[in-house]
Amino acid sequence: MKSDYLININGTIGTPDQVKISVLDRGLLFGDSVYEVTRTYNRRPCLIHEHLDRLYQSAARIGITMPCNRSELTGQMQKSLDAFFSKGAREAYIRIIVTRGEGEIGLDPDYAEHPNLIIIVREQKQNPESWYQQGVKLVIADILRNPPRSMDPSVKSGNYLNNLMAFMQAKEQAAFEAVMLNEKGMVTEGTTSNIWLVKNNIIKTPPLEAGLLSGITRQAVLIQARKNGYVVREENFLPQELYSADEVFITSSTRELVPVYQIDEHKIDNNVPGSMTLKLLKLYREFLASNN
Ligand code: PMP
Repeated sequence: MKSDYLININGTIGTPDQVKISVLDRGLLFGDSVYEVTRTYNRRPCLIHEHLDRLYQSAARIGITMPCNRSELTGQMQKSLDAFFSKGAREAYIRIIVTRGEGEIGLDPDYAEHPNLIIIVREQKQNPESWYQQGVKLVIADILRNPPRSMDPSVKSGNYLNNLMAFMQAKEQAAFEAVMLNEKGMVTEGTTSNIWLVKNNIIKTPPLEAGLLSGITRQAVLIQARKNGYVVREENFLPQELYSADEVFITSSTRELVPVYQIDEHKIDNNVPGSMTLKLLKLYREFLASNN
């Protein structure tokens, strides 16, 4: 499994056994890092400008100085992809991580010597058709999403422990994903996805102020849906609205739009996948095809 990964650390490319990072790196010690995940379509990274915008914003928000400019970063990513595709893989998953760096152990960020750039590439297999045809099950987690005045969820940092703990709850109940609420009990997002509902042909997703990551897929779906005349609202809602929705789906870069057939013990009444979910998935895929 591990040998399927190609790693680029500060420009040196190799297998996970060949290219390594120090255990004194603050990414390991404190989750003191930011990252992005995207995938390729036709071997080209998907919506990479949007992902790099978010990466640089995340780094700025927590005071990590990026180790290189965007064109250098893009060059390193392309170099990694070229090496990866030369071995015959069809599509790639790409994870770009920037840590504050290594140094003496202690919270003081000045201990960090220089930021580290890590690019991980592995094969992006086709997602199972069953996700799109039958849908997936979600649970509402007890674990809350971090409030924006804590570790702000709009920063895509390497500190994912609360999401991970929420995901453990999903796993315990054989669910695909867990939905996290904020302190007011309002829905925010999944542990690695944004969440949407459709009721009476109105599409809703929680607003950024609810405390969530501004998903690149979320943004693309919002724009495409509005462009095509659908009514879309960024509006707070309670879990009960999900339970009684006509359709529910989640979005993320690697999974696109995945329909949901059940949330906790509540089955979605309508046929899954719902007709709006299918229309939006088609629009999203057409948008990607015209971009790549
Ligand atoms: N929310 C969280 C917490 C995530 O980790 C992700 C995956 N990056 C998403 C939403 C979906 O974001 P995107 O569409 O940019 O992949």
